[in-house]
Amino acid sequence: MTEKTLPFSRDELESLAQQVPTPFHIYDEAALRRNSKAFSQAFSWVPGGFRNHFAVKALPNPYILKILHEEGMGADCSSMAELVLCQAAGIPGDHIVFTSNDTPAEEFRKADELGALINLDDLSHVRYLYDALGGRLPERLSFRYNPGPLKEGNAIIGKPEEAKYGLTRPQLFEAYQEAQRLGAKTFCLHTMVASNELNPDYFVETARLLFELAGEIRQRTGIKLSEVNLGGGIGIPYHPSQTAVDLAYVGNKIHAAYQDLIERKDLAPLRVVMECGRVVTGPYGWLVTRVLHKKAIYKDYVGLDASMANLMRPGMYGAYHHISVPGKENAPRKVYDVTGSLCENNDKFAIDREIPDPAIGDLVVIHDTGAHGHAMGFNYNGKLRSAEVLWSGPGRWKVIRRAETYADLFATLDFPGLKT
Ligand SMILES: *Cc1c(COP(=O)(O)O)cnc(C)c1O
Repeated sequence: MTEKTLPFSRDELESLAQQVPTPFHIYDEAALRRNSKAFSQAFSWVPGGFRNHFAVKALPNPYILKILHEEGMGADCSSMAELVLCQAAGIPGDHIVFTSNDTPAEEFRKADELGALINLDDLSHVRYLYDALGGRLPERLSFRYNPGPLKEGNAIIGKPEEAKYGLTRPQLFEAYQEAQRLGAKTFCLHTMVASNELNPDYFVETARLLFELAGEIRQRTGIKLSEVNLGGGIGIPYHPSQTAVDLAYVGNKIHAAYQDLIERKDLAPLRVVMECGRVVTGPYGWLVTRVLHKKAIYKDYVGLDASMANLMRPGMYGAYHHISVPGKENAPRKVYDVTGSLCENNDKFAIDREIPDPAIGDLVVIHDTGAHGHAMGFNYNGKLRSAEVLWSGPGRWKVIRRAETYADLFATLDFPGLKT
């Protein structure tokens, strides 16, 4: 098996850990910037300018949002908190898409106030939005299409026809017409049917589906769309045997589909955008932890000072996250279950995994935690959420979120004697 490499040395991590106690998540700034540029480059052919709207839920830290924005990314928000973070990070409203479902009126009002593109999840939301805004619609409006059995989903997102999101095809035609009647003028079409998908052709297929639908919308309603949003869902190679999606290949193939289904059908200019999260930050973050205990019962265990509260994906989906023991790359290997301390037997980062045999006190690094890592953290068992560190090259790092304290944890409990 090929080993996944780390951008920092063991010594560097050790000296950092002297100042920021483990566990913490660390993100590689240069890699984030490089990768964002390459993403935009793959779609530089898009008329009006391609933009990926980074799915904020993947890594909701304003320092990261600011970096991604500097590299040309917008933001995809689904909640009030995410809108507020983007506002603070200085992302202009017209670089924000608000794709939410089961949305409260106040969140629609906030999105509208920022000038974000609102992407509606249901036919009935046209009226709901109109009422929420006091009897008007924004000038630009988008709808989320659920292709149902026309498109196969995958393990994380499920089958589209079982998914709660979006409008059916017939509802979509009706929605554009109703929105137009109520004053909207410019229209976009969105879908999101994949998650962590590594097959590049999947995204080309999604683009073809939307390009064809753009033609049908034109035919049935007379509306010429201004933008299609292919959603997110580009996967990353969590396992060393997997291969990253070739974004240049995807960009070129979608360009060919665009020429075929949009330019030739007189539907241009149609802007193409996406809203990937995982592929943007996932591979450029790591959870740095330390070995607290080792035990040998019916199986052998390595116990870390991090838990599922810092990284939920392995416990929740059985997801693979690669594990390194810095400085011990060539040490003898041994099979372990690698665990955290929650009173839940699924609090395991790996099961039956062969890793370099660590000693108590060694640093252990869990890979690919830059998306849906810290973000999915929680406080079960009263575990504190960790710090986040931005690494900008050897010796250059900054804490971009401090670790929680017990005072933070108990801040919402007004109870006599509860002091830390
Ligand atoms: C989660 C989500 C994304 C991002 O998905 P990734 O798999 O992180 O690329 C984009 N759009 C919507 C609507 C989402 O819910």
